[in-house]
Amino acid sequence: MEVKYLLDYTGQLLEVARFRDYCPNGLQVEGRSQIRTLVSGVSASQALLEAAAAAGADAILVHHGWFWKSDEARVVGIRRQRLKFLLEREINLIAYHLPLDAHPQLGNNAQLAQRLGFNIENWFGEQQIGAYGTLQTPVVLQALCTNVEQALQRRPLAIGEPQREIRRIAWCSGGAQNYLAQAIELGVDAFLTGEVSEHTVHLARESGVAFIAAGHHATERYGVQALGEHLAAQFGLTHRFLDIDNPV
Ligand SMILES: [Zn+2]
Repeated sequence: MEVKYLLDYTGQLLEVARFRDYCPNGLQVEGRSQIRTLVSGVSASQALLEAAAAAGADAILVHHGWFWKSDEARVVGIRRQRLKFLLEREINLIAYHLPLDAHPQLGNNAQLAQRLGFNIENWFGEQQIGAYGTLQTPVVLQALCTNVEQALQRRPLAIGEPQREIRRIAWCSGGAQNYLAQAIELGVDAFLTGEVSEHTVHLARESGVAFIAAGHHATERYGVQALGEHLAAQFGLTHRFLDIDNPV
């Protein structure tokens, strides 16, 4: 199929126009115009590019693409290597960042809710990307961490009393530790995100709201995978999700 058509469809599906983001959403590097094989992954690292090329990818779909606001603007060093690799092979690079956190079915936070047994009540935070609601089965913090570890295949870091009962929870995938203050305002028992900063630990302790850092990569594996599967089913493409492990 025409990559252009897939981009138009996905841009509408994820309502890309409604977000202010720190990177371009949609096509980041133009490759061949016809695509048949789509490979998805969390981050457009060189390891993913190589694995995708080996899998015969015509397009790579990621959550973390390139060209971030704070990036060096020149094409030198690692950026040159990565770009050269894609351009020589005419592989498209397609990235969706905040719109893929927020989508109510395919997004990272909706997919996390499915895997972790959370009911979504509503959305919060800047651009309404985070979600909050209730646990389908309330458990103590320690048990919740065991469930998270089983679901995401990574041991989370938890700050809080292990026997604290968790009924209401807010969550936001990736590097959303700064949303903890808003989560406290919501009156939840716990907040789950990917990463943690030193100061976040004190805020969690002093508020009594449990904080769970479940991994940036681990919490963002599922949106891009769900989107890749959706696009493959919609357009009859071959799709493979390639997980390049990242402990953070
Ligand atoms: Zn992220």
